[in-house]
Order: sequence, then structure tokens, then C-alpha cells
Amino acid sequence: MTERVGVVGGGIVGIALARLLAGRGSEVTVFEKESRLAQHQTGRNSGVVHAGLYYKPGSLKAMLCAAGRVQLREFCEEKGLPFREVGKLVVAVDESELHALAEIERRSIENGVPDLARIDDPAGLREIEPHVAGIAAVHSPRTAAVDYSAITEAMAQDVRAAGGRILLAHEVTAMTSENGRVRVVTAATEDRFERVVVCAGLHSDVVARFVGADAAPKILPMRGEYWDMTPESAKLVRGMIYPVPDPRFPFLGVHFTRGVYDGVHVGPNAVPALAREGYGWLRISPKDTWESLRWPGALPLVRQHWRMGVDEISASLLKALYYRKARRFVPELKMSDLSRRAPAGVRAQAWGRDGSLLDDFAVDQVGAVTVLRNAPSPAATSSMAIAEYVAEKYLS
Ligand SMILES: Cc1cc2nc3c(=O)[nH]c(=O)nc-3n(C[C@H](O)[C@H](O)[C@H](O)COP(=O)(O)OP(=O)(O)OC[C@H]3O[C@@H](n4cnc5c(N)ncnc54)[C@H](O)[C@@H]3O)c2cc1C
Repeated sequence: MTERVGVVGGGIVGIALARLLAGRGSEVTVFEKESRLAQHQTGRNSGVVHAGLYYKPGSLKAMLCAAGRVQLREFCEEKGLPFREVGKLVVAVDESELHALAEIERRSIENGVPDLARIDDPAGLREIEPHVAGIAAVHSPRTAAVDYSAITEAMAQDVRAAGGRILLAHEVTAMTSENGRVRVVTAATEDRFERVVVCAGLHSDVVARFVGADAAPKILPMRGEYWDMTPESAKLVRGMIYPVPDPRFPFLGVHFTRGVYDGVHVGPNAVPALAREGYGWLRISPKDTWESLRWPGALPLVRQHWRMGVDEISASLLKALYYRKARRFVPELKMSDLSRRAPAGVRAQAWGRDGSLLDDFAVDQVGAVTVLRNAPSPAATSSMAIAEYVAEKYLS
């Protein structure tokens, strides 16, 4: 008998999984609460296909990013979607960053990042990015720019072509296990499935609790804000320029990204969002904020990261401070080159009771329900490989 599988969430991970399962003959139904796919993390990110530089060798991120990048490139080729290998330079501006840069290089080599090069002099850096300032860098020419919303839509077409259903504007409000099957409830429907996979991003902890999963890890919504560069100043950046990230923090730091449609944006920073879908300071959910404040991990997190928090929040509120961060890498940048704020994204970052921010992808199994508890960057890059991993490890 054909297996019926429900997927909660119409971001790139849920749709990649639905495509894989529908292609293998399962009867798939996707529930997405918005009236369009890819409205949250998938449609509000940097659009970068990571080549696997940063991740701990042997981690799920390292393995699935490497496999996912190749699968995504092939998918884009097959569908005629843009996949622009503009390349990425991770730049150490001064000597204090050389140690962390060496660690990135070491991880990149272990992770098999293709065509990686180390550059040890400012002139070498400027051959790749003529306006960059720095003393050393690693260059990843295979890092690419894509349109993740367009990719998700193309995957969704394959789901439908294979007989899968995608129910938009269907928010899952309850799930219960009954006689070995899972009952999935929305305002308009009630379905039963042999298996359900939850890929609900910023709401993954909420949906997990429907079936009695542990409240931990909770989702900490972390907003990333961008500025667009003017078309004239965009000439200062050829591909992507990244800082050496702070190894104590799971975010990559404000960077310059030449996007797939040729514009250059700067960002994202990382500030706490006051709602799960809090795309600006004025979007506040008292419930979400209160739940974060009373989470046992709140105090340890603040104790550990308050300095960085104050710095990031100040740069969010004051353009001059944001500009100062960016200008470190491109000294010719003028404040007026940051022309306007671009749409922000909110990261779904899993957060433990002890205050730790989970680094790797994480999956939970509760009976017949599989829940992606942590799928932050590079989960868009890795989406097709995450789908294979979940299907093989949890659904076979
Ligand atoms: C600022 C920012 C920059 C990033 N940059 C990159 C990058 O350059 N490269 C990269 O690889 N990754 C990047 N990421 C990470 C990447 O965007 C995410 O890892 C990826 O999109 C996760 O996909 P997803 O499908 O799990 O989540 P989402 O895209 O968030 O999708 C989850 C979906 O579930 C739906 N949902 C939630 N609850 C319910 C419910 N109860 N019922 C029905 N539907 C529900 C939501 O509406 C949503 O559509 C970035 C993320 C952010 C925020």
C-alpha cells in the first residue's frame, strides 16, 4: 500500500523532502500556513550557496552542505535557474584574526571545499576584490548565488507533477497519534498519515510540542538586517566579501553579497527578534518575547553574549555604526552607498536550556513524527541532502 506522508512547512526543506518522497511514490501532502511558499527564512536570506568552509568536519552541516551544494547546482542546471559562482573571500583585516582564519582554512580542507585558495598578501586579495582591505584571506571560487524562492517553486512543481498535494493557507493547529497513525488538523481539514515530518522553521518547537516532544531546544528568533548598495557603489564588490566569524557565535557576521540578479547587499547582522516573525523592531509578540525571557537559557545566554548583543543592537539602530562595520573591509565605501534597508530575515536558531545555541542540524523523532529542530544556515544550501538524510535515517 502507498505510504501517506504529511509534511508541515512549505520552506525549501519541507518542499525538498516532499519532492523526494513524492518522486519515490509516497502520497505526500504539504501543509503551509502562508498563502505562498518560501515566505519566511527561505525567501528572506542571503541567497548564498555555501561551499562548506566553516563547519566542524564530520558534522551534519559539513556533510550535507557539501552534498547539497552539488545537488542544488544540478537542479538549477536542469530547471534553467540561475546559479552564479561569484566566489567568496573570507578576509582577515588584522593579525588578531589570523588564528581564526587558519582554523577556517583547516576545516575547509577537511570538508573538501573545492578549489579553495589561501592568500597571504594584500595585493593577492586585491586581484580578486580590487577594493578590499585586509592582510590575508581564504578564497572559495565555487561559492554561488541563487534565488531560493524560485528554486522552492520549481521543486513544488515537481511535487505536484508527481501527484503530491500542497495546501497553502493551511496552518497545522494540532497533531495527535492514534492507532499508529498521525492525525493532522487545520481549520479546514483533518487528515491521517502513516508518517509526518515537521519542517516548520521558526515554529518547529511549537509544532513539536503538539506531539509531546521536549520543549528544548526552543527556537530563538534572531533577525538579520540588510542594506542595499547603490548600483554605482556596487562596483566596489565583485563577488562576496565575508569577515572572519567570531567562533563563539553561530552567525557569520555582516558581509557583502553580490546576489543572483546582480545587486549587492550588505548584512545580515544578528539581533534578537521580538516575535518569531519579527521582521522589524516594531513587530512585537508579547507571548513570544515573554516565552524567551522566561526560558532557563535566557540568563546564561545574556551573560555570555551581552557585549556582542549591545554592539549588534546599536548597529541596528544607528546606520553609522552598521556602516562602520562594513567599511572595515571596503574602505572606499561611503555611508550614502548604503542606499536603503532591504527586507530582513529571521533565523530559527535552536536554543538549549543551558543557554547554548545549537550549532549542528538536529532532528527529533516522536513516534511516527519526525521534527527538524535546528535547520539554520546552511540548510537552504543543504536542503536536498537534508531531505535524503531524513528519508533514509527516519522514514525508511
Ligand atoms: C537572514 C538569513 C540569512 C541566511 N542566509 C543563508 C544563505 O545564504 N544560505 C543558506 O544556505 N542558508 C541561509 N539561511 C538559512 C536558510 O534560509 C534556512 O536554513 C532555510 O531556509 C530553512 O528552511 P526551512 O524550510 O527549514 O524553513 P522556512 O523557510 O522558515 O520554512 C518553514 C515554513 O513552515 C511554515 N510553518 C510554520 N508553522 C507552521 C504550521 N503550524 N502549519 C503550517 N506551516 C507552518 C512557515 O510558514 C514556513 O513557510 C539564512 C537565514 C536567514 C534568516
